Amino acid sequence: MSFVEHTINPYQVALQQFNRASAHLRDIDDSLLEYMRYPRREFTVNFPVRMDDGSTKIHTGYRVHHSTVLGPSKGGIRYDSAVTLDEVRALAMWMSWKCSLVGLPYGGAKGGVIVDPRSLSMGEKERLTRRYASELIPLISPHSDVPAPDMGTDGQTMAWIMDTYSMTVGYSVPAIVTGKPLVIGGSEGRKQATGRGVITVMMEAMRRAGIMDSGSVRVAVQGFGNVGSHAAYYAHENGFKVVAVSDIQGGIYNANGLHIPSVMEHQTIYGTVVGFPGAESVSNSELLEVPCDVLIPAALENQITEKNADKIKAKFVIEGANGPTTPEADDILNGRGVTVVPDVLANAGGVIVSYFEWVQDLQAFFWSEDEIFRKMDPFLIRAYEVTTRMSEEKGIDMRTAAQVTAIKRVAEALKTRGFYP
Ligand code: NAD
Repeated sequence: MSFVEHTINPYQVALQQFNRASAHLRDIDDSLLEYMRYPRREFTVNFPVRMDDGSTKIHTGYRVHHSTVLGPSKGGIRYDSAVTLDEVRALAMWMSWKCSLVGLPYGGAKGGVIVDPRSLSMGEKERLTRRYASELIPLISPHSDVPAPDMGTDGQTMAWIMDTYSMTVGYSVPAIVTGKPLVIGGSEGRKQATGRGVITVMMEAMRRAGIMDSGSVRVAVQGFGNVGSHAAYYAHENGFKVVAVSDIQGGIYNANGLHIPSVMEHQTIYGTVVGFPGAESVSNSELLEVPCDVLIPAALENQITEKNADKIKAKFVIEGANGPTTPEADDILNGRGVTVVPDVLANAGGVIVSYFEWVQDLQAFFWSEDEIFRKMDPFLIRAYEVTTRMSEEKGIDMRTAAQVTAIKRVAEALKTRGFYP
């Protein structure tokens, strides 16, 4: 069962947000703004995959480059049965704003394949990934477009892409993807980076609100994958009370707090958080409305809409997922005084450490985990500061402020480079 609101088109949401930000960018030439509304290029591939039962299935995949103005495009690859071209377009656009906001030399991209990864055997997943990767070869390289994991893909997926690319060019190219396993040129800390960064950002929000006692802060996390599980883990590690977590199968709630390392063990054994002893069952939609102070949506887009925004009890929404809140829900939450720390800021830890991984691969010189996190946090805190400043200066919410800041930087670079030819 999918919880995505299919009636809400993520690209339309991204454009609505862009329009809101553009209204505060009157000094930018209309032609620059118009250019940034569209992806630079879009690639659709239809390709065969041999299944274990001997049949052949045709799959459809996408890769969208929204912008390459600041540098190579960067963005994850998603495997999900609900992937659409418009979803990939939106995610690519948000990557442009994210990279720009945190000051990385990257443009934005995203990829996706329409497939339920849980329906594939390991062999099928490998064949699908290798064929998709080889279809993308005209489009990707360490200097043009660098993929990474997203929903439904992981380090192993990246290893297959890296190997497929390397076999094609005839030598090993670790910098072709980020989020790889360490043994083939991955970075220390990349796996945890997004979730850890979400908690760095959450703690910055708490600090600015004068909330010092982490034990008094109740946190609920939707999604217990790469982002959600690490966010829950670091929240727990830092003394916050994680009262609810969920995955695609459902959620668990305990008002006294869940012991997250044990929930992680339970998930490793049973493949889900559901059934964790000593917790009540909640559905994914109920999870969003449980009594808590901080809500971290870390699954997928369009989870907080005008239908449930007024039922959310949290005072802070820290967006681990991309696009979890619709513009209508933003208005309701902002009207109620809820602080929404937007995706492009809150989950940027992942792309920051992806950038570190790429830099390490290019120079073939590797850093320790300590060094990685010591370098990551200042990027996030700086981005928080510039977003807050913009928000105060213009009297706008944090999402609009983050996008105004990000779009401004891309526009300046675009103006400086000029339109080719
Ligand atoms: P993942 O595949 O590791 O985990 C996704 C989690 O969401 C799983 O627990 C899954 O069970 C749950 N889920 C999937 N479909 C669901 C549904 N229909 N309803 C409720 N729960 C559902 O993915 P991830 O990498 O953790 O990505 C999660 C979100 O974070 C996505 O929006 C992604 O774009 C964003 N994000 C990821 C990274 C990264 O580094 N992986 C970086 C930035 C943002």
